[in-house]
Amino acid sequence: MGALYRTFRPLTFQEVVGQEHVKEPLLRAIREGRLAQAYLFSGPRGVGKTTTARLLAMAVGCQGQERPCGVCPHCQAVQKGAHPDVVEIDAASNNSVEDVRELRERILLAPLTAPKKVFILDEAHMLSKSAFNALLKTLEEPPPHVLFVFATTEPERMPPTILSRVQHYRFRRLREEEIALKLRRILEEMGREAEEEALLLIARLSDGAMRDAESLLERLLLLEGPLTRTQVEAALGLPPKEALARLAEALLLGKVPEALKEARRLYGLGFAPRSLVGGLMEVLREGLYAAYGLGGARLPAGPEELLQALTRLDEALERLSRRSDLLALEAALLNLLNLAPTGPAPPPEPASASGPVPEPDPHAPARPKAPPEAGETQDLAEGWRAFLEALKPTLRAFVREARPHLEGKTLILRFPESKAFHHKKAEEQKAHLLPLARAQFGVEELAFVLEKKSLSGASPPPPTRPVPPREASPPVAAPPPEPEPPLVVDLEGEDPPWEAEEGEDPSEELRRLARLLGGRLLWVRKPKAPEAEEPVSEDGIGGNGIMPP
Ligand SMILES: [Zn+2]
Repeated sequence: MGALYRTFRPLTFQEVVGQEHVKEPLLRAIREGRLAQAYLFSGPRGVGKTTTARLLAMAVGCQGQERPCGVCPHCQAVQKGAHPDVVEIDAASNNSVEDVRELRERILLAPLTAPKKVFILDEAHMLSKSAFNALLKTLEEPPPHVLFVFATTEPERMPPTILSRVQHYRFRRLREEEIALKLRRILEEMGREAEEEALLLIARLSDGAMRDAESLLERLLLLEGPLTRTQVEAALGLPPKEALARLAEALLLGKVPEALKEARRLYGLGFAPRSLVGGLMEVLREGLYAAYGLGGARLPAGPEELLQALTRLDEALERLSRRSDLLALEAALLNLLNLAPTGPAPPPEPASASGPVPEPDPHAPARPKAPPEAGETQDLAEGWRAFLEALKPTLRAFVREARPHLEGKTLILRFPESKAFHHKKAEEQKAHLLPLARAQFGVEELAFVLEKKSLSGASPPPPTRPVPPREASPPVAAPPPEPEPPLVVDLEGEDPPWEAEEGEDPSEELRRLARLLGGRLLWVRKPKAPEAEEPVSEDGIGGNGIMPP
C-alpha cells in the first residue's frame, strides 16, 4: 500500500474535503471555459492546494463529461504524475538560474497532447528574485497555451507584481469534523472500524491539515482491531484524557493533594510535563466550549476562570521548554489555583482549615491557596479574603471598604473618610463580625475606625502595611447563560433605604449593591430633585434613565 494520502487523493472536485469557496468558482470557470491563466492557491500545508492544482490540470484536457472525470487517460496520466504537459516544480529546490532558464524554455514549447501546458509551482514563495523576474515577463503576456498554478503557504512573501497578475484563492484550515469524515471514508474503503472519538483526536492533532491526518491514520492502522481513542493516545504517547480530566477537575476545585498525586503519577508514567500541560489545555478548552453550550465535557468552573487557566498554562508551556522536571510541572499546575472566582465557582474553602500542603515545606503556613512566598502581609491579605468571602453579600459590601490591620489581639478595620456610611453599617454588625474575626485571625477584639484626613495625628496609621481591597466580584454571580435580571429601584418612597453621606452618589451605592446581589441596576428613579442630574443608565438603552414624575 502506498502512502494513504496518495492512494486516497481526490480524483474529482467532489472528493475534495471542504474549500467550497474555492471549488465552486473553479468548477464554474471550467464548465464555462473561462479559466484564468494564472492562479495562486495559498493556505496552510496539507489542506488541498496541490490536489486542487492537479484537478485543474486534469480538467484542462479531460475527455469525460463532468470535468475532471478522474478516469479518462488524461486524468489518469496527470494523477500518476506522468503527463508530459503537466509540470510540477518544487520551487524550493529548483531555484537556480539554470532552473529558471529551463523553465522559460519549457513554457515556450507548445503542449504535446493536452490543450494547455500546466505548470504547478509548489512553495512558490521560495522562488528566487531572478526566477520571479523571469516568470513575470511570461505572466505579463502569457502564451495562450499555458496555465500557471502557484501554491504557497506564505502568500505575503510573493512579490506584489506577481500577486497582481494571478487569481488568488485562500484555502482554509479544515474543521475537525471534516477531517474525521474523510478518515471515516478511507477506513470504510479499507474495511476498518474506528471510534468517532479516535478520529476526532487524530483530526485535532493534525491542526486542520488533511495530509497530516492521513499520515497519522496510516501509522495507526498498523494496530489490530477497531481503532479506539485509548489506542490512539497510547500509540502516540499522549496522556489519557480521563486522567487529564481528573487533574483539571481537582485543580479547579482547589483539591491540591489529588491534583498533585495525579500529576506525579502521570509524570512517573513517563509523560513529559509539556505534553501533560498541553493535554490539560485541551481538556480546559473543551470545558470552555461546554460552558458556552458548544458540546463537550463540562468542568466545575465558569468560562472566565477557564480562560484564565488556559492563559496561565499557555505561559507555563513556554517556561516548560526551558525547564521540564516534576517541580516545574507542579509549579505550572499550582499556578491555576487562585483564579478569580467568576462563574459558578465552587464554594470557597474555609481558610482556617489547614489542608495538606502541596509542596513538602514544613515551615510554610498550611494554607493551600497561598503562594510559596507567603509573608505576614500576604497572610493578612489571604485571611481578609477568606473573611470577606464568609460574609453575607450585603454585609460584605460594607466591610470590604475597610482596610484591615492587626494590632496585638485586635483587628482594626479602617474605613476611608468617604465611606462613613459603610463604617457605620459595619460597626452596627459587630456582633456578627466578631466571632468570624476571632476564628479567622485569632484576635480577641474588633475595632472600627473612620479615618479623618483633617484630624491629622488623631489616629496615625499603624506600621503594618495596608492590604488593598480585593477587586474581584463575589461568588454569588449568576451563571453566565442566564441574563442578569435588571434591578429597578424606586427612590420616591418616604424613607430611602440608605443614608447618603455628603458627596456620595447614592446611585453608585445602589449599583454596587445590585451587582453584589447578582442583579444589574437599570435605572434609578430619583425623588423630585431641585436640580437636574446626570442620567443613570448602565447599558445605554435606558434613554435618560429618569422616569417622568
Ligand atoms: Zn478525465
